[in-house]
Amino acid sequence: MMGLEIKDLYVEVEGKEILKGVSLSIAPGEVHALMGPNGSGKSTLANALLGHPRYKITKGAIFLDGEDITSMAPDERARKGLFLSFQYPQEIPGVTVENFLRTAYNNLHGKIDVVKFNALLKERMSALHIDPAFSRRYLNEGFSGGEKKRMEVLQMTVLNPRFMVLDETDSGLDVDALKVVAQGISAMRDGTHATLIITHFNRILKLVEPDHVHIITAGRIVKSGGKELAHETEEKGYRE
Ligand code: ADP
Ligand code: MG
Repeated sequence: MMGLEIKDLYVEVEGKEILKGVSLSIAPGEVHALMGPNGSGKSTLANALLGHPRYKITKGAIFLDGEDITSMAPDERARKGLFLSFQYPQEIPGVTVENFLRTAYNNLHGKIDVVKFNALLKERMSALHIDPAFSRRYLNEGFSGGEKKRMEVLQMTVLNPRFMVLDETDSGLDVDALKVVAQGISAMRDGTHATLIITHFNRILKLVEPDHVHIITAGRIVKSGGKELAHETEEKGYRE
């Protein structure tokens, strides 16, 4: 299958089984939301997708466009087009936003002409209403929370990964930051990206309407449905 496919995934952390058979299929062009209470295993899934060494896959598999990436290293997964928010270093002194993004772009897509890259960067920044001077700042140095979030979304729209997993720290995001994230995801809704939004609350899902919603509880997906499931979940909480 094309897109991101998770098949019967079991994941252990520190010897404890957290995910107990999670299956998800996200076709190109689709946005899925994974919702669940704290401790249900959402970030464990994100980390397992990323290939974090502490999150051990004991059963099941992950596929990108049909290719099994279950045992690939994190950087290899990135080169296959998998993008996770929060995957890059917090602060790199002496490296500008522009240089960082160009290097990341080259690693992912092959070498691009500097003039061409700058045109691309300019266009993406303007789409997100980011001040042009931002590209000359040092990466994350003295960035406010909102600027860090902008940087992440800019990185996402510039790198143009085919598979995106966004593990939101909803509680920390103000409305403006939330809007930037939503804008980035919406701008990339062109039928080519498979997107998974992981969230505890449905605030972001009011700005980006998902095609499918899945509810995870205690390491298992217990319910799947359309966007209305996110709204029901807000009204009823996760009690069932
Ligand atoms: P969520 O993101 O849904 O809040 P997590 O995936 O972070 O849930 O956590 C699920 C369970 O796994 C929790 O019981 C948590 O304590 C445990 N867990 C997650 N990561 C680690 C870790 N690095 N070390 C030990 N336990 C962990
Ligand atoms: Mg989490």
